[in-house]
Amino acid sequence: MGADSATTHSDRMADDDTAPTDTTSHDGISEVADGVLKITRAVTNCYLVDTDDGAVLVDAGLPRMWPLVLDALRSRRLSPDDLISVYLTHGHFDHVGVVTRLQTDHHVPVHVHPADASLVRHPYRYDREASRLLYPLRHPRGLPHLFRMARAGALRVRGAEVRGDIRAQTPVLGGLVPIPTPGHTHGHVAFHLPDRGVLFTGDALVTLDPYTGRRGPRTVARAATADSAGALAVLAALAETGAETVLPGHGDAWTRGIERAVAEARAAGPQ
Ligand SMILES: [Zn+2]
Ligand SMILES: [Zn+2]
Repeated sequence: MGADSATTHSDRMADDDTAPTDTTSHDGISEVADGVLKITRAVTNCYLVDTDDGAVLVDAGLPRMWPLVLDALRSRRLSPDDLISVYLTHGHFDHVGVVTRLQTDHHVPVHVHPADASLVRHPYRYDREASRLLYPLRHPRGLPHLFRMARAGALRVRGAEVRGDIRAQTPVLGGLVPIPTPGHTHGHVAFHLPDRGVLFTGDALVTLDPYTGRRGPRTVARAATADSAGALAVLAALAETGAETVLPGHGDAWTRGIERAVAEARAAGPQ
């Protein structure tokens, strides 16, 4: 990543060990690994990934991320029609925002684990352990993030019929290896790019939880998690990848290795 690489400085590593993530999380596009652009709006990320097979999108953000998705594609001299696939880590509303547009207008195939296919159809109908309403009262630091997500279209996401054909450890087009990580949702998967040491963790491990406003590697609040004990247990599968670069669904990229991120998430405990 050059100093002049696109947009934000949000992924610069902090020098200070006590501040493992920075405190910006600006909207914008930044190159976070070789051939990987992070697209961020309202503390929510999706990723444009160059692969030998073509460009893929990991997750599909919030509806109003669309102009940023177009900018990211343009910076690679691509259009939405050039995307070979979208791979969803899970079916929550904040990760499927531009799915309908890509499927309907650009005929891009969208894939998810079969256990989350019905969630993509109904992206607000998800299991959770705690009330969505009480959490913001207990964690007021999360409120500005939730408002930003709402302004980015989080309350108006349309469900979609997508391909529930992602299989554990079976590489998809583009060479991404799905790592099953059920817990946050029942069909959550992370995606590992072994040759680049990159792991897309979705909401199995984030570096900023929009529900609580807490920063640093952690699982997501029980207000948005189906099974928080399960979510902690599957961190082991993430650690096993040994990936250096961790690219979460919310918060900044983490470049200190997945083992350390998992250790911190375990220490933070259920949220
Ligand atoms: Zn989620
Ligand atoms: Zn999310």
